[in-house]
Amino acid sequence: MCPMRHCIVGIYYESQNGKAVAMYLNDLKTMVAWAIAKKALDPWCGICHSQTWTYEDEPTIFKTIAEAQGPMAMLELEQQQAAKLLKPSHN
Ligand SMILES: [Zn+2]
Repeated sequence: MCPMRHCIVGIYYESQNGKAVAMYLNDLKTMVAWAIAKKALDPWCGICHSQTWTYEDEPTIFKTIAEAQGPMAMLELEQQQAAKLLKPSHN
């Protein structure tokens, strides 16, 4: 999805009042830093090669995690397929 928003990693969570919970965004930043340090995640955008990381925490159209799980699973599968196309082969 790049065109400059560099969406490489996404998480979702349920908020009591529909507002962002800073702890989850902080956890995501910690996980990304850990994954980069362990070389489990490239430190650049796979589409434009930017190394600038930005984080967004926005409400979705879903009211609950249960409601979101089906559509999120479909999106995750699509992202995995796109990543395979973009990632150079190591064969
Ligand atoms: Zn990018």
